[in-house]
Amino acid sequence: MPDRWLNPVAARLVAAGALVLFVVGVLVPAAPAMAAPTFKVPFPCGQSWSGQTRSGHSPANAIDFNRTNDAGDPVVASAPGTVDRVTDLGGTSYGKYVRINHGNGYHTYYAHLSGFNVSVGQSVGYGKVIGWVGSTGNSSGAHLHYEQRLNGADIKIRFSGTLALYWGTKTYTSGNGCSSNTGSGTVRTAGANLTVRSGPGTGYSAVGSLANGASVTIHCQTRGTTVTGTYGTSSIWNRIGAGRFIADVYVYTGHDGFIPNVPRC
Ligand SMILES: [Zn+2]
Repeated sequence: MPDRWLNPVAARLVAAGALVLFVVGVLVPAAPAMAAPTFKVPFPCGQSWSGQTRSGHSPANAIDFNRTNDAGDPVVASAPGTVDRVTDLGGTSYGKYVRINHGNGYHTYYAHLSGFNVSVGQSVGYGKVIGWVGSTGNSSGAHLHYEQRLNGADIKIRFSGTLALYWGTKTYTSGNGCSSNTGSGTVRTAGANLTVRSGPGTGYSAVGSLANGASVTIHCQTRGTTVTGTYGTSSIWNRIGAGRFIADVYVYTGHDGFIPNVPRC
């Protein structure tokens, strides 16, 4: 690492020689990390798996997953991304493994698979089966060896932002690829607050307001008063709580019109 990266305190300490590595590692600010993907447990929705971390593991932050009779069980992508390795190392190391590139320097690894269900370059989303639990490579029994890495270094694993148990064994229940019957959206106005109404129309009483940028959970959608707003003209209204409705044309949902899987009110 070039000296110009060192702050003055670090630069003085570098002169001490023996402290160089320590100082560089502790005092020089790293580039800010990009937001991590929302990683989920790498098994289908609703399944519970025992995940073990141990300091002697290689790499240390990996989790080994098991459940009864797990050989051949499907393994799924823990976040959207692009498959960038589908590799068979034979009887060594990871054996058959898949690596997914999630962008911003993040990768996940799925090792000791019995077989593959994806190929390099394939885009995958939550819940996509990428392979099956096996015992290939340096493994003494069927299990999934799973890693999260940032810029090549293994990191402590998080699922939906929650740190895994370090160190020990814990049951993890998958919320990966679960179909949801609520939608999510973000209020988008020209800056003014959006009026929340008691029913699906401008004739209903105002019961509150939401700031531009507010996140909302959409429980159901229905037709009401036609409104022209940020995203055009529409008669769709979103119920965001008991007796609370907002016009869909002021909500970014990622969908034009009704949101798939969200019920009609
Ligand atoms: Zn392992």
